[in-house]
Formats: sequence, C-alpha cells, structure tokens
Amino acid sequence: MINCLRLKQNRLILLAVLVLFICVGVGGFRQEQIQALNAPEKLLPQPQEIASTAWQHASFPVEEFQSYTSPFGYRLSPVTGEKQFHNGLDLAAPLGSYVRNWWTGKVVKVSDDTACGTSVIVESGGWRHAYCHLEGHVEKAANGRYMIDRSGGIQIWQGQDIPVGMRIGRVGMTGRTTGPHLHWTLKFNGNYVDPALVLKEMFKKQAMLMPDKLS
Ligand SMILES: [Zn+2]
Repeated sequence: MINCLRLKQNRLILLAVLVLFICVGVGGFRQEQIQALNAPEKLLPQPQEIASTAWQHASFPVEEFQSYTSPFGYRLSPVTGEKQFHNGLDLAAPLGSYVRNWWTGKVVKVSDDTACGTSVIVESGGWRHAYCHLEGHVEKAANGRYMIDRSGGIQIWQGQDIPVGMRIGRVGMTGRTTGPHLHWTLKFNGNYVDPALVLKEMFKKQAMLMPDKLS
C-alpha cells in the first residue's frame, strides 16, 4: 500500500517536473529564472540541512497538478503593471484538489486574513513552507487555533506535528487570486528559495530510484 502510494507520488512528481522543464524550454520562465535553474547548487541548501535523509522523501505539494502558472522571481503585477517580487511558485490544479505537506514538520501558523488567503505554514528544521489560497477558514477553540475545511475533511491545528505527504488542505480561491492554484513558498533560514529548484532536486533523486520510467 505504502509502496503503491509512493509510486503514484513519484509518477506525479515526474510529470510535474517534466512540465517544469517544458515551461523553461518554451520560455514560459523568464531569463533570470533560467539562470537560477542553471546554478541550483549555489542557491539551494543541501538536503542534510533538513534531515539526515534526502530529497526523494519529500512530497510533491499538490494532487491533480495541471501547470505552473507563475514562477518565482520578479514579474509585472497582473493588477498594477508594476515590477514585483513573486515569492513562491504557483501550481494550478482544479478547485478542491488536495494539497500535501512537502516535508515532515510542525504547523507554526494557520491564517485566513491576508492576501495569502486561508493558509498553513509548516516549519521543518531551517525550512519554512507555506501553502496559500486554500479552501476553508480559521477557527479558535479554548485549546488553540485550527484551519478547518469541513467538506474536504481537513482540520489542521496550529502547533500540530505533521508527517510528509499528509493532506493539509485543498486548492481554493481565498485571498488575492484570479484562479484556483496553490501559491507555495519555501524559506530556508529566513531567505526565500525558488521552489522550482527544490522540485528539480526531488526529481533528480527520484529518477534515480525509477530509471526504467525514464527510458
Ligand atoms: Zn503566487
């Protein structure tokens, strides 16, 4: 069962990263993005900084992935036309698609009152990963705060420890967004990291485990 899930996840990541490469190939990503992808070793903290294990154990963050709609980096705002820094990667998926926790960690914040919409932030060692525009909202109880998405069967408590791959929400339209997607941000020791670099490393490691799928 676990192997089956793992294989399914590996296939999803393979598909997602192939799409990422195609995006880069057709110029969907701007020049600075391409330069960043060409030099990931310098920019990307190594996996031992997260844990003693490696990238292949990370989970792709969304089910039913469709396409990357906006890369990490500087872009012209679709609203104001001004240059702005897009601090994450946008992954489009149908409304209601499940979002999965990228790496084992602790939920440090649940929120629903910013442009990020209903969101969950997880800390894993020096890494901080945030998931924006989810379905649901935040509620308070005597023993703490939690994000609740009743129709998706999701309840995530602030302070909760969560394993890699756990369903932590569903793709929604909360906060400032023009269509259903997951805005995913990664920070290492307080600095933003391009999630595309991380996905690329995950793909490389996972491809080693299933070389037959690449031939
Ligand atoms: Zn975004």
